Amino acid sequence: MIQIKHVHKTFKQRKGGTFTAIDDVSLTIHKGEFVSLLGPSGCGKSTVLNMVAGLEGYDEGIIEVNGSKVTGPGSDRVVVFQEHALFPWLTVLDNVAFGLKQKGVSKKERYEKAMEQIKTVHLSKFADRYPHELSGGMKQRAAIARALAMDPEILLMDEPFAALDEQTRLILHKELEEIWMRTGKTILFITHNIREAVILSDRVVVMSTRPGTIKKEFAVKAARPRDHADSVI
Ligand code: ATP
Ligand code: MG
Repeated sequence: MIQIKHVHKTFKQRKGGTFTAIDDVSLTIHKGEFVSLLGPSGCGKSTVLNMVAGLEGYDEGIIEVNGSKVTGPGSDRVVVFQEHALFPWLTVLDNVAFGLKQKGVSKKERYEKAMEQIKTVHLSKFADRYPHELSGGMKQRAAIARALAMDPEILLMDEPFAALDEQTRLILHKELEEIWMRTGKTILFITHNIREAVILSDRVVVMSTRPGTIKKEFAVKAARPRDHADSVI
């Protein structure tokens, strides 16, 4: 469960002074819930996600994951960015296995786990390819496999499909939904695309044009057939 409570965040401006990027945002995301964050450019969506990821600090309020204050990145949260951020010098397999190496998992086990996730995203035939040999959709699949290999409780996705064509995006929606239904991950998903938000999420949270506030939120779907969720909206 992610709890964002009355969080404020300012950035220092180059000319001096500060700029308020997040102004009293509160949001609770339950375990197993799929929540989309929607809103115009510059309203603070990525800042919220980065604060939950522990990549950005905050000035006031508190962010907790399962009751513990977020003070930095943690293995319970993994980010999937718009730019897939794969290492160009590593194959798909080595990219997906990379994080597991950092975790100290044995070579045999990390390749087994990586191949399992590569299969999940239908890239088995491309495991030995380098990123430049893949299409945009395939790269994004590899990035999702890499995130899943870490087996985080929470997936933080910052416009993961924004750079893809409509058809590829629709295929990846289906795949992500399947992954989510099967694994019960908690997902915070940023998008500009209201249709995408409505198709994928349990709940859509709209941030305001006045930077850094939540304007409204609404439930999209009734309970879906999942065993994992601890809440039903
Ligand atoms: P987009 O939809 O374009 O990705 P966003 O909603 O994700 O936008 P953020 O990237 O969270 O918006 O930015 C929110 C505000 O904070 C913007 O006005 C941005 O200029 C400012 N901001 C973000 N990061 C920094 C930074 N490192 N230093 C200064 N200002 C920043
Ligand atoms: Mg952003």
